[in-house]
Amino acid sequence: MSILVVGSLAFDDIETPFGSSPDTLGGSSTYIALSASYFSDDINMVGVVGSDFTDEHFTLLHSRNIDTQGIRKVEDGKTFRWAGRYHYDMNTRDTLDTRLNVFADFDPHVPEQYRKSKFVCLGNIDPELQVKVLDQITAPEMVICDTMNFWIEGKPEELKKTLERVDVFIINDSEARILSGDPNLVRSARIIREMGPKILIIKKGEHGALLFTDSGIFAAPAYPLESIYDPTGAGDTFAGGFIGHLSRCENITDLELRKAVLYGSAMASFCVEMFGTERVVGLDLLEIEDRYQSFLDLSRIEA
Ligand code: AMP
Repeated sequence: MSILVVGSLAFDDIETPFGSSPDTLGGSSTYIALSASYFSDDINMVGVVGSDFTDEHFTLLHSRNIDTQGIRKVEDGKTFRWAGRYHYDMNTRDTLDTRLNVFADFDPHVPEQYRKSKFVCLGNIDPELQVKVLDQITAPEMVICDTMNFWIEGKPEELKKTLERVDVFIINDSEARILSGDPNLVRSARIIREMGPKILIIKKGEHGALLFTDSGIFAAPAYPLESIYDPTGAGDTFAGGFIGHLSRCENITDLELRKAVLYGSAMASFCVEMFGTERVVGLDLLEIEDRYQSFLDLSRIEA
């Protein structure tokens, strides 16, 4: 099943207590597409970049079989840039700078051949752009959406309009509290699900993720790693693994949703092991399956 991924393509300047990585390839859709590419060979991207996005960057995406025909290159513009700093508690980060650059005038055009996509993954971009993308898709089976505090605080009403058309919403715990206006995560989940998305995932960084559906709540742990270098993109990598697994399921049942959360968590656990996309680019299926099994073992109790 084809997956359409829309979101930012970026160059990030990342600082963590363990080092820094300037001018690193990033962006929400980059991480989502790379991660999903281990589950599907039909990944299509829509986005915009500037002249600083070189053939080398496209080649990296092509190396994972990702179709980039929907990425527009603006020759007299610069790619979106984000700068962030993490503290010793890697769950918190400060955004130091956000430069929309070519994203400021981005008007997403979904190429004809992508319009019948069954899975649509709306990465973290302006919610107004997310809706514009949905308007161009014929009959999506599942729409997955991510966002961040920048948009929750900057465009709350627009985001609520997007959410009315979303099946799965992925958000982190602090963002869920801001969006719902409620400090309690279970109540927040109820409030957010009433905004539209029937399936909600609340990520809690190194404390795992919660899946809320009509059938109840599923809690997935995070993989206990000794070394975490850079959490950037972990959320998007999670989303890529999540949608990637669902795209290969014949029926999307509650069990498959739970498995998808574990595959997403497995992919995110790789992402944080190195700076930027470095680790997510060079994985193989065996190590993904191994890590998935380790996730199952983490909370298994023998009878
Ligand atoms: P995550 O760590 O999963 O939240 O994603 C980090 C990625 O999101 C980075 O690679 C950034 O380039 C990108 N990003 C940060 N801020 C924004 C924003 N306001 N809009 C779109 N993408 C962003």
